[in-house]
Amino acid sequence: MNLDKLKEVLRDQPKFRFKQAWQAIFVDLIENWDDNTTLPKDLRDRLKEECPLKIKSTAFESNNTDTTKALILLEDKSQIETVLMQHKDGRNTVCVSCQVGCPVGCAFCATGTLGLGRNLTVSEIVLQVLFFARYLKKNQKENTRITNIVYMGMGEPFMNYDNVMASVKLLNDKDAFNIGARHISISTSGVVPGIQKFAKEPLQLNLAISLHATNDELRSSLMPINKRFGIDRVMQAVEEYKNDRDRQIMFEYLMMDNVNDREEHARELVELLGNDTSLYMVNLIRYNPTGKFRPSLPQNIKKFKNILMRAGIKTSERFAFGQDINAACGQLALKNKK
Ligand code: SAH
Ligand code: SF4
Repeated sequence: MNLDKLKEVLRDQPKFRFKQAWQAIFVDLIENWDDNTTLPKDLRDRLKEECPLKIKSTAFESNNTDTTKALILLEDKSQIETVLMQHKDGRNTVCVSCQVGCPVGCAFCATGTLGLGRNLTVSEIVLQVLFFARYLKKNQKENTRITNIVYMGMGEPFMNYDNVMASVKLLNDKDAFNIGARHISISTSGVVPGIQKFAKEPLQLNLAISLHATNDELRSSLMPINKRFGIDRVMQAVEEYKNDRDRQIMFEYLMMDNVNDREEHARELVELLGNDTSLYMVNLIRYNPTGKFRPSLPQNIKKFKNILMRAGIKTSERFAFGQDINAACGQLALKNKK
């Protein structure tokens, strides 16, 4: 599905035709232009030819079916992955990718080891959500709506800033997916100019920062981007965002055994977050092993969490969704490549 092609085909048509086609794609969720009854046949034939709606993919369901991962094949044969998480309370979250691979190359991340293929287009970002919107419609009787989006799949959102923001607008569009801005979160490894730009966006989106380490030496060894934008600069940008927007900020912290999970690291983190932590929350993420590191022991996660909580910092542990289908960042694509 290519929305630029759609616009091209409908360029000389009356405006309402575009609205009808848009509704057919995003509201009726048709997978074939013949399933539409409002557009004239010759137009549908052209659309079938030039803007096919089929999304080429394979879906993997986890044993406990709360997580479904899809591998989507793009026109140029690159593959991206996207994950649907169905929560008990009825929320449906889609985790989208924004690049093929990722140029940041974090040591713990399977996507990072793929290197950068390229940025995804707006259509390619949005079709991941479309894929699961169709999936839910076909496979479920209730809770078929996608309610939340996280940009936590493959790639660094702030290195594909314009396409990511354009895709956000489309997901938020009342005539398309109508997902509230407050239910859309973007995660960055700490691209400072991106954070500064993001602070000026009119929509009330959520920001997540992948911190993972509390001092520059350790962070640079895990995340090469830290050599360009060190912890102080990232924290300063976050601080400015916080003061500007008055919105909660989530810090993601991967728990890796004997790497960043010792009590001294927890104390360093408390210090780093400073005195006013009312808008901060820390999410301790269970590490999904990709070869190099081991996940932290449960008792060490508990100790780490307690130190943060005693300092008054809101702390949660991210529920490990879909371990059995490798639902962490980049892993399925890597497996398939091998
Ligand atoms: N590039 C962005 C967004 C995509 S990564 C970023 O880094 O923030 C989304 C999250 O998945 C990040 O917090 C990342 O650190 C985490 N992640 C990467 N590898 C992981 C793994 N093996 N297990 C669990 N989480 C992982
Ligand atoms: Fe890229 Fe994020 Fe993976 Fe780092 S963690 S390599 S920034 S996708």
